[in-house]
Amino acid sequence: MLTDRLPRIRLGHLPTPVHELPRLSRALGGPRLYVKRDDQTGLATGGNKTRKLEFSVAEAVRRGADTLVTLGAVQSNHARQTAAAAAACGLRCVLVLRGRAPAAATGNLLLDHLFGARIVFAGEQTVEEVGEAVAAAERADGHRPFLIPVGASDEIGAAGFVAALEELKGQLDELRLRVDRIVFASSSFGTQAGLCVGAKALGFDAKLAGIAIDSTREELQTSVAGIAARLAARIGLHASVTPSEVIAWDGYRGGGYAVLGEPEREAIRLVARHEGILLDPVYTGRAMAGLLDLVRRREFGANETILFWHTGGTPALFAYAAELLDPGT
Ligand SMILES: *Cc1c(COP(=O)(O)O)cnc(C)c1O
Repeated sequence: MLTDRLPRIRLGHLPTPVHELPRLSRALGGPRLYVKRDDQTGLATGGNKTRKLEFSVAEAVRRGADTLVTLGAVQSNHARQTAAAAAACGLRCVLVLRGRAPAAATGNLLLDHLFGARIVFAGEQTVEEVGEAVAAAERADGHRPFLIPVGASDEIGAAGFVAALEELKGQLDELRLRVDRIVFASSSFGTQAGLCVGAKALGFDAKLAGIAIDSTREELQTSVAGIAARLAARIGLHASVTPSEVIAWDGYRGGGYAVLGEPEREAIRLVARHEGILLDPVYTGRAMAGLLDLVRRREFGANETILFWHTGGTPALFAYAAELLDPGT
């Protein structure tokens, strides 16, 4: 495997399933749709961060850390999976979350508490500033903290998606299935960087169509290429991903990060009712809304085979209960 030389701790139940979405496909009048079920990675209700954390936590342990410190939004799936990974590995965990404590700890935040993480709200400050301060205080207290960036999206964590692309390629080969496009939510750039580097290394030619959750195409292309360059060096790949090779659809950012709108609501309902699969309000609901629109506008052809990479996020549904429930349906 491409990532064989990197330290890795098994946290997920891998490989995750790949299967067809026949009813959703029929409802749309084509294309042929498949899903990669990273909502089923097995760590604390699953999600794409499990794959990255296998590498990030292993690196922390290799450096002798006893405490994981990471950063994110209040409903961060990454924070929840980091808290679970810390518990599973016997490490302490401090989560630095944006803004102030909400009135009720629900969804991911509830699970963060159950996993025993210490939670610090950044208030007016950035999570990066507070994260540095927390790490310094931990060191002063005699602990050995390891700081994992937002989304574990550095060249360490992104290796998880090089391995993921290799896993998928093996599954597709076994199914004798060729996909034209892979569609997924792209936010902190690590997932897409890993997929791009994996595809380059393996000569995998499906289009990797990131749906930008909260950044412009230019920001996304530049940042993905940056992580990809460091990641390629880390796995010893002598090839680079240029910004123009990074595919990013940035027309689906709606009201901004974590703001649930009608497109996300429709996508969540449609997939739930046709396939019995839960998407999430922040990432996969938005990415699927983008996929639906691109199919309806015929940007994606009715004869294509498209794989939707489900990146998880289920617990956040419960934090959006009032907005998801529509009286009358
Ligand atoms: C973090 C996350 C993403 C985005 O992954 P990035 O590597 O940050 O681009 C997508 N979906 C879910 C559910 C996530 O938690």
